[in-house]
Amino acid sequence: MKKKLLFGLKIITGFIIMIIFIVLVGYLWPTSLLDTPKYYNETLITSVNVVDVETGDILTDRNILINKNTIVKIDSFPINTSREHLVIDGSGKFLIPGLWDMHTHSNQQSELLHHPLYIANGVTGVRDMSGQLNERDSYWVGSKERLQWNKDLENNNRVTPRYVLQSSYQMDGEKAIPNGALNFFKLQNPEQVDSLLKFYKNEKVDFIKIYAQLPKDTYLELAKKAPTYGLHIAGHKPMFLSLKEAINAGQRSFEHGRIFMYECFSEADSLKSSKNWKQYFKKSKEKILTQFDSLKAKQLMQLMAEKKAYWTPTLQTLKFEAFAHKTAFTDNRNLKYVTKVRKQLWWGFDTEYNKKRNLETKGISVSEQFFEASKKQVKMARDLGVPIMAGTDVTDSYVFAGFSLHDELLELTKSGLSNLEALQAATIIPAKYSNALNDFGTIAIGKKADLVLLDSNPLENIKNTKKIHGVMLNGLYYDSTKIEKLKKFTESSASSLHINIKTLANLFNSPLIRVQFAD
Ligand SMILES: [Zn+2]
Repeated sequence: MKKKLLFGLKIITGFIIMIIFIVLVGYLWPTSLLDTPKYYNETLITSVNVVDVETGDILTDRNILINKNTIVKIDSFPINTSREHLVIDGSGKFLIPGLWDMHTHSNQQSELLHHPLYIANGVTGVRDMSGQLNERDSYWVGSKERLQWNKDLENNNRVTPRYVLQSSYQMDGEKAIPNGALNFFKLQNPEQVDSLLKFYKNEKVDFIKIYAQLPKDTYLELAKKAPTYGLHIAGHKPMFLSLKEAINAGQRSFEHGRIFMYECFSEADSLKSSKNWKQYFKKSKEKILTQFDSLKAKQLMQLMAEKKAYWTPTLQTLKFEAFAHKTAFTDNRNLKYVTKVRKQLWWGFDTEYNKKRNLETKGISVSEQFFEASKKQVKMARDLGVPIMAGTDVTDSYVFAGFSLHDELLELTKSGLSNLEALQAATIIPAKYSNALNDFGTIAIGKKADLVLLDSNPLENIKNTKKIHGVMLNGLYYDSTKIEKLKKFTESSASSLHINIKTLANLFNSPLIRVQFAD
């Protein structure tokens, strides 16, 4: 008996040691990175149809000369080059500016799991909507990492999209700040605003990301003072003031499809001080839908247009909530690009929760009606002159880096935007928002060579943005073989044991994730 017990103990100890060993090896296993394409001093794209995203015109049969990373010539006559150069045959193809996803979240593993997919899908620029506090976080990245990536992109030695604007951490009041962090991050009162702005200015951040639970007086102080530091504010509308007040305060972009829904029903005002606003929303979704006051919404949209506030509806997130119970939606072939840890620990829970809620109702679920209503509001806002930006909310459930941007463009057209307007929402409008029209947003002499070569005309069918023949980023060309490699790389990263172990470790070690999930 004793011998048996001893033997059993030995087996269990051996097993535990083996698990610890595997986890440790996995955690310490070096990760390989992708190589950039070959560098050429000059690249010539011949006989291509250039899509003018400003006017919707197609300039047929153009030759384009790229010097290093800049477009230097666009001509209908042949262009002679003397130096060693790359020639890309553009005949029968359509060239559009690189697409920008204006609402994403990157993390310490984005190089493995997101960057290759962005590029493979023609997404050459992203606006990351999250950041860090004063210490390096194991999960989130901050302006330090992103600015280094941008620098490496400029030096042609890293496979990464451009990070077009740098965000602060999401400012959500006291609850979102872990114990031990500097006090001003809590933004409990207006006196802390200057310290926060000074800190982020120093970190070379461009905007302060606003979240839901910021106190009203602090928010208004932040909105007032940010421009004096050369910063702006963007993100959610804080719960405790009205959308009208937030627009008037100068917030430059508002995120997600719900912003008008949550503002335009009879009890909206009583929510501004409610402690249980989260619970309230869950219970009142139906009321919010049926009471929707489109007149009030139109007034707010008009004000947004007037104040030049942009809207990123991120319809993908509402689409997930609407269709989480349908296998046609959840059986997505891009799931192979997502780590098992994320799929099981995060997306799985999210899916089950929404599935249950949707199946409670007979016929069309409330979430589905919510999604449809938000799409109508996208059209209303467009009609009233609100600039609409394409954004996906990457890392949220069933949002896939790169791929989902094309789905978002499609949803924007289903909402009532023309194919040209959908393209503009991912090119010229984001470039304008980012104050970067001199370098990006259209195809023109003097601009950066961030380009997507398509097999078919996207103005005829928006789904043609998916027919990618090649992608140029900072003048480097990813042809179809290279693009296939990018996808394969992410697929194998997502399924590898050591990346999954790292994902788990990064999540558990992050104090920021802990407070975010606790809330
Ligand atoms: Zn987001």
